Amino acid sequence: MTLPKNVDKFSDWLVRRAGKCLVAGPCSVESEDQILGTAVELAQCDVNLLRGGIWKPRTRPGSFEGIGEKGLSWLKAAGCATELPVGTEVATPLHVEQCLESNIDVLWIGARTTTSPIAVQAIADSLAGVDVPVMIKNPMNPDLGLWIGAIERMRRAGIDRVVAVHRGFSTHIKHKYRNQPLWNIPLELRSRMPEIPILCDPSHICGTQPYIASIAQAALEVGLDGLMLESHWHPELALSDPGQQLSPWQLAELIKQITRNLNLGVTSRNRELGNLRREIDEIDQDLSALLAKRTSILQHIRADREGISGKDWLSVCATGLMKTLVKQLARNIERKSAACPLGFPRTEVDSGTSRKSWPQSGVHPRSDTISSNKLA
Ligand code: PEP
Ligand code: MN
Repeated sequence: MTLPKNVDKFSDWLVRRAGKCLVAGPCSVESEDQILGTAVELAQCDVNLLRGGIWKPRTRPGSFEGIGEKGLSWLKAAGCATELPVGTEVATPLHVEQCLESNIDVLWIGARTTTSPIAVQAIADSLAGVDVPVMIKNPMNPDLGLWIGAIERMRRAGIDRVVAVHRGFSTHIKHKYRNQPLWNIPLELRSRMPEIPILCDPSHICGTQPYIASIAQAALEVGLDGLMLESHWHPELALSDPGQQLSPWQLAELIKQITRNLNLGVTSRNRELGNLRREIDEIDQDLSALLAKRTSILQHIRADREGISGKDWLSVCATGLMKTLVKQLARNIERKSAACPLGFPRTEVDSGTSRKSWPQSGVHPRSDTISSNKLA
């Protein structure tokens, strides 16, 4: 597909990789007026690509599932009127075919589709021989292999303009973000495939407006190549993802604010400290969510504790991780008591609940799970 030179802002950016890229537009194309009105306002914000969903993969049936094929011509017309290339999500070979017929400039694969190698391969097959940039969102779950696999499938189909989009990960832990950023995953992708540009989609990470600026700034601080932000001319009326869309005016303010902050001078040293700080914050949030969950289960058990012996109750309270922590603590106390006559007597450490039932290895029981979750 040949793109008109004057509207190929996205591909220009891909070639130059200079500065940062901005993809913006509504979660969904809803009407001709909505996409055109939003595009006209966004065109003032130095946007490289106008986005708009046509087919929406919604978790539950019955919600707005996208305007469908007729929206493609509205999206393209809004792009032509504002001299912006346009992009949308494809989930099937039929979507690809309809997008190419409507001269959509950039395609992207959504998080739910990236999760399925068969769906990704079907899209890759339908793109063989087509010269169109493809953006690939990370899969829903924190699985770097699936993300890399989807990128490889596109490249094998001959797509050489592939962009990764970090949109956060869904995990079992309740978090202030809709999807956890788990920054180490896009950074690991960067080190394994340094040639692939990576954009960050703070809208889908955050799920609500207030966190978007800090995630957007963090993405640029860690060296990602740009942002994909959802923007709707009247966010409160949006038919999908209303809570996370910014008005074009809010988007312009956000870009100004983070540009100002970044220009205040983020040195590589404080960038590194900032990243480590963020990792610690995320771990702390995970820990406190897990402890809250644990406490609520204990409260539940305590509610009908009748009939549980003191010893059994202790073993309910002190399972798995807690036993390892208690054991570690006991060892420390033991060491201290050997060195210090005022420490606990040895017998107190060795007695207590059945030592045999504690994990034999001193390895943190969740350390494997944590690293494989984050880096798999
Ligand atoms: C979207 O971009 O509107 C979307 C559905 O994104 P994701 O695939 O990241 O959930
Ligand atoms: Mn959305």
